[in-house]
Amino acid sequence: MKKELIYEGKAKKIFSTEDKDVYLQEFKDDATAFNGVKKDKIPHKGEFNNYISSEIFIHLKKNGIPNHFIGKISDTEMLVRKVNIIKIEVVCRNIAAGSLVKKFGFSEGAVLDKPIVEFYLKSDELGDPLFTEDHIYSLGLADSHELSTIKKMTLMINSILIKYFAAKGIRLVDFKLEFGKDKSGNIILADEISPDTCRLWDSITNKKLDKDRFRFDLGEVEEAYREIKNRLTAQ
Ligand code: UDP
Repeated sequence: MKKELIYEGKAKKIFSTEDKDVYLQEFKDDATAFNGVKKDKIPHKGEFNNYISSEIFIHLKKNGIPNHFIGKISDTEMLVRKVNIIKIEVVCRNIAAGSLVKKFGFSEGAVLDKPIVEFYLKSDELGDPLFTEDHIYSLGLADSHELSTIKKMTLMINSILIKYFAAKGIRLVDFKLEFGKDKSGNIILADEISPDTCRLWDSITNKKLDKDRFRFDLGEVEEAYREIKNRLTAQ
């Protein structure tokens, strides 16, 4: 199946396959935080994130959100449609946490009146800076029609996932999305959706069940990822 390694990121590897329109996405156990300064492995994270992302992509597709997922083919691998990734990290927030607290002075846990959507430049060298729509147009990363599609899709995904997680006893605090263009030029959701890219709190206890456990050495990191996988895949 795997032909050549196309790209290796912090948490995933992407391989070409015999089909030029299909890539294989492999999830790794490696974890990094603070732009690569903190590094470690979380046992079974690759497997947990592959299961979690697969469940979420299937649910989003059922609810009309086009995405690159084709199918899970092993514990740590999925097949995805080839896309050209748009170099924008789209963050959507429902509850204040992380940089909203650090940079803008929100109180952690404050419920936002309406979701906040933010754009970050996808560039490790530049440290993924927060940027505006005008920066995006000037850099030629997307035009206004494309950016409005991305923003609309993000808010739709947010509404769908808030309900999806709530039914599993989880509060969707915030998350990061990446989009890509398929061979016909359509914008579709890509990358992954997992505890690496979302903040997920238990609905009753507010226990953090995501990468913040790794970022801030809160312990029970592997257990948190396993808990999310179990809740999402329970029948
Ligand atoms: N996030 C991500 N990749 C990044 C930066 C952020 O997946 O490179 C996710 C993060 O896990 C959280 C949300 O985006 O769910 C918002 O992150 P925030 O801006 O608060 O940044 P952080 O404080 O996590 O660096």
